[in-house]
Amino acid sequence: MKIICIGRNYAKHIEELANERPTEPVVFLKPDSAILPKKMPFFIPTFSNEIHYEVELLVKINKVGKHIDAKFAHKYYDEIGLGIDFTDRELQSKLKAKGLPWEKAKGFDGSAVVGEFYPKEQFDLENIKFQLFKNDELVQDGESNSMLWKIDELIAYVSQFFTLKKGDLIFTGTPAGVGAVKPEDVLVGTLEGNENFRVKIK
Ligand code: ZN
Repeated sequence: MKIICIGRNYAKHIEELANERPTEPVVFLKPDSAILPKKMPFFIPTFSNEIHYEVELLVKINKVGKHIDAKFAHKYYDEIGLGIDFTDRELQSKLKAKGLPWEKAKGFDGSAVVGEFYPKEQFDLENIKFQLFKNDELVQDGESNSMLWKIDELIAYVSQFFTLKKGDLIFTGTPAGVGAVKPEDVLVGTLEGNENFRVKIK
């Protein structure tokens, strides 16, 4: 399986990182080895000085598809989840400044936290609410209606470039409030108010 990630999909997050607002989605990949095994702590990599959390809504692809029209995109996923796109922000900034790919800053082992998935029928897809708490303090407060590109538009867009396969995950971008983690922090993600994942930082 592959993990397709969307960058710069929330206007306020674009502002906080002083990025340019894109005219089409920013897309990058993480390898399957990036997935943090369930119940495992996240170990800050030895190469890193600044790891940021980014809580994101996840979409799990349910069948193969290419060149999917946005109006049929809903047939290609049944489940919605929540996760974290851990990012080495210092390394990413250096790579961005040089115009180099972000993979080392975004695709390292453990950088993809994948929480529980639930049937999409349980959600109002236009208005899914999700949050991230760091040590019980609310740090990110997101809602799908603030996405610049909605789930179906993202599926249509990325499937022009990559054949989607059953089990692939799309990380749909992070809202504002990203920040750094340090050892002993505990991150808890909630989806519609229900705890979805809990990760300890080591
Ligand atoms: Zn992200």
